[in-house]
Amino acid sequence: MSLDDLFREVILDHYKNPHHFGELPDPTVSIHLKNPSCGDSIDLQLKTEGDRVVDAAFRGQGCSISMASASMLTDAVRGKTIEEAERLLVAVQEMLRGAGVDPRLGDLTALEGVSHFPVRVKCALLAWEGLDKSLRKLHPPAGK
Ligand code: ZN
Repeated sequence: MSLDDLFREVILDHYKNPHHFGELPDPTVSIHLKNPSCGDSIDLQLKTEGDRVVDAAFRGQGCSISMASASMLTDAVRGKTIEEAERLLVAVQEMLRGAGVDPRLGDLTALEGVSHFPVRVKCALLAWEGLDKSLRKLHPPAGK
C-alpha cells in the first residue's frame, strides 16, 4: 500500500476545508496538543451545556491526517452527550489500532487506512487524545 492510499478524498476535503476551524467565544474546556514526531499541533475546544457537547472547534497546523481527523472530530462530537462522545472516542481508537471499520463512524471510517501506518496513527489520534483529556476534565473519574 502506498502513502497515496491514505489520502482518500474525505481526508483531503477535510484538510482543505476544515470544519469548525477557529476559537469558541466561551469554551468549557480547552486543550493544547502536540505530536512532536510529525510536528502537528492542535488546540481543541469544547462547549458543554449540562451533559451535552453543544459546540466544538479546533485550531492548529500539521499534516493532512491530523487536521482532517480534528475536523471530523468536531463534526462528530457536536450535539452528542458526554457519554456518547466517550463511546465514539473508544470506537475511533479501536479502529485506528486496527480493529477494522465500524460503519457507524460515518466519515470517520476514512481514517481506517491510517491504521496500517503506525507512524501516522499518532497524527490521526492527536485530536482524539484531546477529546479524551477534555472529557476527563468534564467528567473526572473520581466524581463517578
Ligand atoms: Zn502528522
